[in-house]
Amino acid sequence: MPEGAIGTVRQGFVSAGSGPTVGRLSRPGVLLDRDGTIIVDHGYVGSVDRVEFIAGAPEAIARFNRASIPVAVVTNQGGVARGFYGLDDVHQVHQHITERLAEHDAHIDLYVYCPYHPEGVVEAFARTSEDRKPRPGMARAAAVALNLDLTASFVVGDRPEDVGLAESVGASAVYLAAEGCDRPGVWGYPSLAAAASFILERVAT
Ligand SMILES: [Mg+2]
Repeated sequence: MPEGAIGTVRQGFVSAGSGPTVGRLSRPGVLLDRDGTIIVDHGYVGSVDRVEFIAGAPEAIARFNRASIPVAVVTNQGGVARGFYGLDDVHQVHQHITERLAEHDAHIDLYVYCPYHPEGVVEAFARTSEDRKPRPGMARAAAVALNLDLTASFVVGDRPEDVGLAESVGASAVYLAAEGCDRPGVWGYPSLAAAASFILERVAT
């Protein structure tokens, strides 16, 4: 499995016609957290049998796809550092998500994940990282890979570190929480499905 220059292990599933193109003007994209945003956060999801899609999430991703908006997953996977599962398991979960999304005519253009955690027990991954949300590394990597204008892009997630990621790169934030969100510049929605129209109106070209 390739390891990027800044330490994040990246998996690219870039569909024909939507991948990075040298010289193309940068464009807005949608950066999606994974657990609690696309699939249910069962806590350290490291095997395909624990993948459960959140209602409406595949359809929301399909709407972004149809609008030609690049979609990246940016996910902290500290479970690798903690020894709960390995890189191959993360890869398999993402392959499974890709296959299930295809049933909804939906796809992820790029998966970026951070296997590092400062309190990890697996020596190779037990460290701080600029890629671990809310640090900006994964968003910047996605921007390079997909030619994104992050200041015109949205980060969607269910944790404060997702909002922090958006703030660290100048992106807009959608915070998924039943109770909403009262922070300026952060829009609260109960789900990705509920936020999809709002995002589409602002990033579709
Ligand atoms: Mg989450």
